[in-house]
Amino acid sequence: MEQVLEVKGLKTYFYTEDGVAKSVDGVDFTLSKGKTLGIVGESGCGKSVTSLSVMRLVSEPAGKIVDGEILFNGDNLLAKTEKEMRDIRGNRISMIFQEPMTSLNPVFTVGNQINEVLKLHQGMTTKEATLKSIEMLKLVGIPLPEKRVHEYPHQLSGGMRQRVMIAMALACNPALLIADEPTTALDVTIQAQILELMKDLKERLGTAIMLVTHDLGVVAEVADEVMVMYAGRVVEHGAVREIFAKPMHPYTQGLLKSIPDISEEVEFLETIEGLVPNIYEMPAGCSFAPRCKHAMDACRERQPALTYDGGHKVRCFLYGDASEGEVG
Ligand code: SF4
Ligand code: MG
Repeated sequence: MEQVLEVKGLKTYFYTEDGVAKSVDGVDFTLSKGKTLGIVGESGCGKSVTSLSVMRLVSEPAGKIVDGEILFNGDNLLAKTEKEMRDIRGNRISMIFQEPMTSLNPVFTVGNQINEVLKLHQGMTTKEATLKSIEMLKLVGIPLPEKRVHEYPHQLSGGMRQRVMIAMALACNPALLIADEPTTALDVTIQAQILELMKDLKERLGTAIMLVTHDLGVVAEVADEVMVMYAGRVVEHGAVREIFAKPMHPYTQGLLKSIPDISEEVEFLETIEGLVPNIYEMPAGCSFAPRCKHAMDACRERQPALTYDGGHKVRCFLYGDASEGEVG
């Protein structure tokens, strides 16, 4: 299968007055053409910083990619100049965010905004770009695209604006789409429609998708693989089907218990007790130990490695030999 993205040993740190925050601390994954990888975890786990790192949009000078490799179609993005990256962004790698209103410019029509992307990256004339914009609006299921193309963002509903964002992101037929909480701001019905649309586009266009979300329900809908992050590290990674059927890491088990099951009436949802550790004062050993009901002595002294177990990867001493963990 054609590999679109390969991330190896990625470390992205933030240098602040309070100390060094190791927001992404040694992350590895690959993503193939036409596949969707869901990256999940609570806020501050490093999932958004991972996606910003791939786009080379980590805010400097505080934030810095300090180690690792990001290969896009075999090409190392960390060796690119800013000018080369500008050429790649919006063209070969696109991104959509949670709130489309903040990413769309209120003073230009939606057609103008999609046209800009096409003129910049594909060298199209205004006439060619307008035709393509209408085609893209049609593709993402916007009714009366010939009329909508001349409207302003405020004339559209939230769901329509998110469709416009997707149309704009896909206008240049990128090899990789990064979607960070793309449906979080939308109501449930619209959310389902947008997820359905992403699934359909992935199949039709073969786009590889990195889907960043706190919501495992969203992952279950669209992703092929899921990577669970906790405190800057991957704690579990494997096929969606497998992880939902047999979650191994205590953190993943907790996340899965906190998804509402629509097939049954639930009185209250189980939540994972405790907070994500302070990123400036990470505990020694396993970073989940302070919240883990299975924590053993070794867990507070040694860091578990990410190891293969039964077809997927997990970072936990419940699987494997705790004496092999790294001290610290
Ligand atoms: Fe819990 Fe220990 Fe596994 Fe960490 S390594 S998740 S503390 S059992
Ligand atoms: Mg985020």
